[in-house]
Amino acid sequence: MSNDEEIEATYVIVGGGIAGMSCAETLRLYTKDPILLISESPTVKVVTNIKFHTKMAAGFDVEEKCLQTLRDIKFVVGEVISIDSVARIVYTNNVKINYQKLCLCTGATPKLLDDKDYIIALRDTHSVEYFQTILGQASQIVIVGNGGIATDLVYKLNDVKIIWVIKDNYISSHFLDAGAAEFFSNYLNATQVEPKVVKRHRYTGEKGTGAALGPDWHSGVMFGNNKNKEVIIEYTTSIKSISKDKQTRVELENGKTYECDFVVSAIGVTPNSDIELKNNKQFDIAPDNGIKVDWKMETNLPDIFAAGDVCTTEWKSDHWFQMRLWTQARQMGIYAAKCMFHRNANEALYQDFCFELFTHVTTFFGFKVILLGLYNAQGLEKNDCELLVRVTDGQEYVKLVLKSGRVVGAVLIGDTDLEEMCENLILNQIDISNLKDDLLDPNIDIEDYFD
Ligand code: FAD
Repeated sequence: MSNDEEIEATYVIVGGGIAGMSCAETLRLYTKDPILLISESPTVKVVTNIKFHTKMAAGFDVEEKCLQTLRDIKFVVGEVISIDSVARIVYTNNVKINYQKLCLCTGATPKLLDDKDYIIALRDTHSVEYFQTILGQASQIVIVGNGGIATDLVYKLNDVKIIWVIKDNYISSHFLDAGAAEFFSNYLNATQVEPKVVKRHRYTGEKGTGAALGPDWHSGVMFGNNKNKEVIIEYTTSIKSISKDKQTRVELENGKTYECDFVVSAIGVTPNSDIELKNNKQFDIAPDNGIKVDWKMETNLPDIFAAGDVCTTEWKSDHWFQMRLWTQARQMGIYAAKCMFHRNANEALYQDFCFELFTHVTTFFGFKVILLGLYNAQGLEKNDCELLVRVTDGQEYVKLVLKSGRVVGAVLIGDTDLEEMCENLILNQIDISNLKDDLLDPNIDIEDYFD
């Protein structure tokens, strides 16, 4: 390895995904000190068109931008090979970079069931384009996993038979409860009528080196070559074996076997934390392989911060917990910038307000979905919480999670208009024991109670 060139910057950020770019752009607002971004690809992800649904719950678009167009941020295109945390040097394949403060935003890689060409995972623009190409010749595919990616795919794919293999007894368990899953059950086999084309800028970098996709990754319907769409769900089971002769054969633990054209592995991600450290130093690594960070986004090594999918927070608050999502990558990137700047200036730091409340805005089966706080009663004992539910078939699903008479989480599906009220109730922790019967009554204007 030759590290011919030597450069320096006060702030160095590794990774051109949402976390890295949010960190670099925020630092640029704080300081005129040199900022340098290291990206494996010359194309980076920039958050645009932020739309706030409440004070804290936001959705946004993600655009791909050329590194050259970034203002007042130096960049190096390359892969970080190792870090000397004592001498404060980052080594890429051909450059040596001296830093004062370093932030690692290297993201995560989808877990693969097996490293075979008939088992694919979706990660970046290239992988989605490849997926669309092979889908065009496919009549039957197997999707494994029960999170957001699998749910989006099942909804967006047309003209293909899908065997959806999940370990739970209801769909989309990462985000939904059994009731909400039931609400969506009528839409599983629905044929989509949205435009076929997924338009996106092309990467100019090497294959497989791009950041994770942005919220528009599925903005278009994708077609197989079957006459119809059919979804078969195999509940409470997992993959026993996958083999290929003429056809790919998938054997399930429940004894069933399916033939298919290929398998989509959507079983989660592993943080990209395996960067070599010199001088026998090591990051504290969490059981999920993330680099552990404290509430100031600092790792155990001095002057090294981490944000986004690569990190695992050692903290959570009453109504916030970590999930590897776009919004959190952005929030952590912005907050890490603030932490780095304050640390450099030796100034007092207060934790950002956004970590007071978990929020996630997404779309499932064409419905707006807003998740707030402990939306799935995370960490609560069964006899410690109460659920208020309102369901109007084909229109909305509302669930409030209550603890000791106070709202601690909410699932809002459809145009419920309840998001602001729910956010306030969670943040203010008002005792609503006396309002329980009225709170979700559509005939009562509940806002009046709080005026
Ligand atoms: P990334 O976007 O992965 O960026 C990491 C960057 O670091 C990359 O540019 C990579 O090339 C670079 N890098 C890695 N190692 C090195 C190195 N050694 N040297 C230099 N550079 C390096 N989230 C949601 O909220 N909602 C969704 O519906 C949703 N759907 C998704 C669908 C798909 C198909 C995928 C893949 C993800 C989805 N996510 C979703 C998750 C979301 O994309 C991620 O949480 C988010 O993009 C993470 O951003 P990041 O900046 O931390 O990491």
